Amino acid sequence: MRCCFHPDYEIPLPEGHPFPMRKFSALRDILLAEGLLRPTELVEPTEIDWNDLRMVHEEGWLDALRDGTLTRNQERRLGLPWSPALVRRSRLAANGTVIAAWHALDDGVAANLAGGTHHACPDHGEGFCVLNDVGVAIRTLQREEEIRRALIVDLDVHHGNGNALCFADDPTVFTYSIHGARNFPMRKPPSDLDVPLADHVGDLEYLDRLGESLQIAIDRSRPDLVFLLSGVDVVVGDRYGRLALTRDGLRRRERLAQSMLRHAGLPVVLVLSGGYAATPQLTADLHAESHRVAREVFGPSGEGSGCRASADTAEQQA
Ligand SMILES: [Zn+2]
Repeated sequence: MRCCFHPDYEIPLPEGHPFPMRKFSALRDILLAEGLLRPTELVEPTEIDWNDLRMVHEEGWLDALRDGTLTRNQERRLGLPWSPALVRRSRLAANGTVIAAWHALDDGVAANLAGGTHHACPDHGEGFCVLNDVGVAIRTLQREEEIRRALIVDLDVHHGNGNALCFADDPTVFTYSIHGARNFPMRKPPSDLDVPLADHVGDLEYLDRLGESLQIAIDRSRPDLVFLLSGVDVVVGDRYGRLALTRDGLRRRERLAQSMLRHAGLPVVLVLSGGYAATPQLTADLHAESHRVAREVFGPSGEGSGCRASADTAEQQA
């Protein structure tokens, strides 16, 4: 499976900052060490063009990012200190999701070892999310007429408010979010399908609710491409999670979601979104579950799924 990664996904943060910046290279190292990822499958993105970001974000937010003129309030809401390196890493990661989306159309599945920054809204950043990478990827592929419709499956424990705002009133993009009802963000603009969960929900209830609701999302959205945001902050003990999935439950969640999407013949882009376990290494190891499952569900390299090829064939037959 081709995976986008850049060493500059990681930037220095102030001592004690809660964002686990080291998880990105740790995940790459785990995937390489376990043979889930071959070095030749690593794809290094460049920084995304500012013009591409304008398809999702408002000029004022992009100007503030480029010029370093965030207000104190904007920076506090973002939760990350502005720096040129932060802007660069955000543009690299956004393009990683765009490139992974192209590869998913060819291979059936591909990944960005970052991204899923679902709290980034058109006019501001929020909750460690600077740019809405999935939004930009969808708009890019729609502009290139590679896809018409997309489905965002957001399994991060926090509601996908940025995605909901980016695609409010857009019938071509279906937003699905299963999340902690009482968790951040406090204001949750409606997704096309929201599945709010009580605090401390465990494996069985979570998997039940996911299975029934995700099928509805697949049936209603009829997408050409799916973005799977496999946030691992649903796991018990997560600093910001408030749910109680076990690691086995996380693995079963990934197997359930990915199998349903694969069964529906849909190409899938895997992105990370959040995770705040005890250490960045543990967070990365939890993110790796999504990749371990993907090799079971989609095969070792994602090759042979041929979603684009089969879609073309289906179109010719139709
Ligand atoms: Zn989260």
